[in-house]
Amino acid sequence: MQQRTPGERAGTGSHPSIFGETPGSRWAGVAPTLAGVSRSYTVRTYGCQMNVHDSERMAGLLEGAGYARAEDPDTADVVVFNTCAVRENADNKLYGNLGHLRPRKVANPDMQIAVGGCLAQKDRETITRRAPWVDVVFGTHNVHALPTLLDRARHNEAAQVEIAESLEVFPSTLPARRESAYAGWVSISVGCNNTCTFCIVPSLRGKERDRRPGDVLAEVSALAADGVLEVTLLGQNVNAYGSEFGGEAGRGAFAKLLRSCGDVEGLERVRFTSPHPRDFTSDVIAAMAQTPNVCPQLHMPLQSGSDDVLRRMRRSYRSSRFLRILAEVRESIPHAAISTDIIVGFPGETERDFADTLDVVREARFAQAFTFQYSTRPGTPAAEMDGQLPKEVVQERYERLVALQEEISWQENRAQEGREVELLVSSGEGRKDGATRRLTGRARDGRLVHFAPGTTTGIRPGDVVTVVIDRGAPHHLVADGGVLTHRRTRAGDAAEAGTRPAGAPTTAPTTLGLPVFGRPADEPEPATGCGVPATTSGGSR
Ligand code: SF4
Repeated sequence: MQQRTPGERAGTGSHPSIFGETPGSRWAGVAPTLAGVSRSYTVRTYGCQMNVHDSERMAGLLEGAGYARAEDPDTADVVVFNTCAVRENADNKLYGNLGHLRPRKVANPDMQIAVGGCLAQKDRETITRRAPWVDVVFGTHNVHALPTLLDRARHNEAAQVEIAESLEVFPSTLPARRESAYAGWVSISVGCNNTCTFCIVPSLRGKERDRRPGDVLAEVSALAADGVLEVTLLGQNVNAYGSEFGGEAGRGAFAKLLRSCGDVEGLERVRFTSPHPRDFTSDVIAAMAQTPNVCPQLHMPLQSGSDDVLRRMRRSYRSSRFLRILAEVRESIPHAAISTDIIVGFPGETERDFADTLDVVREARFAQAFTFQYSTRPGTPAAEMDGQLPKEVVQERYERLVALQEEISWQENRAQEGREVELLVSSGEGRKDGATRRLTGRARDGRLVHFAPGTTTGIRPGDVVTVVIDRGAPHHLVADGGVLTHRRTRAGDAAEAGTRPAGAPTTAPTTLGLPVFGRPADEPEPATGCGVPATTSGGSR
């Protein structure tokens, strides 16, 4: 079912007539150009990797409709906000950003502002009430409607708010404007059937919908055929994949999918994010261990080490089960880098509960943890729970947890010293590379490595090098001894030429996708809740 606000009715628009013409006289059925020049767009993304994925779809849809990417985002004719509802104060930040755009909109009524994503799905017409200069509000289930809604807003000279209650088009069937020549997202499912009490995402993203394995593999193969070396399988709860199919088709579907990715020619690295401990079965671990192109990396959200807190979070595993999974993974994949998400200060968390979390962290020896201070998210069951903790208690526990994890991460990274690693050279991940004359890449286990090229020249993003690690820092590794081998790749050629894969629709972020080891300093902190850890916020399973 779709909701349309009164703003859609002709004449009730939230901003004045832009052109002084009768509604529709200018835009009906014409391409989005002014004086023959394509209108430009920019998409601002907040939130998890699911949003990064959706943003690339939005960009692809807009380009398919004749818009051009703005050279300067500050002068774009269309500004799209792809929002996140997970972070605390997400709405304040959105309205602040919309407020900053208001003078531009007043000065240039041709400009259009669209708001999509989880916050739009949640707040709907509240957005056009609070920011009546917004032209379009669309939800997580009807991303494909964006160009039509922009047209209709121009035509009707009225704000358009359209929210679908369930998925209308699987996002991966939409065109995408890919950002990377060497790494690509492939969505395998959307939505989640779990009901974690701190998470608003199920109500915004809906029940899990699984994409057919043949479609997933066709997209993976198309990317590999275009030279993409790394694919990240994406879903809110990837290892529940197949639950929608039921029967034999659903049994072990995620493990089978991983194994099938192993047969895709040219595909060198397969990652996935994120699994849920409840569904993480031995067949998945075996598939990871036995499929050479599946990377030795696992993001396994713990959330709390206290069984009482896990119960109140409605997380169906217990700490002992969690640790058993890790032990099994390490037995099968000895060098696996395992990361996690942890929430500190969940309602009712006692000092004893918190001590249990510290104990699990000590035992688990995560390569990295995304740690979050619990904060109430309106609309979640946890927001109504008794025992909300004072900020200073949460802060103090948080600092103790961070200190412990930093120490462990550093020890784990120092243990990498002397190892020879293969890196997929990346772009945009080494903020200080210019000053340090280093390049940056990701090891197979996802660790971030800054390396000195030494005498090797012509290394491009998308190429593959091997280096020896000579220093482990808490958040990254350093290899200053030069490059042992350098393999030029088709992805590197494409990156150098500025071309992007043209295969089946998918997305490809500039980062490698999974929770990063040694996240660059300019990469915003992820926030828990859901979605998958990404550029500005992230998640938990
Ligand atoms: S935290 Fe993850 S598993 Fe839990 S409800 Fe949210 S999306 Fe689902």
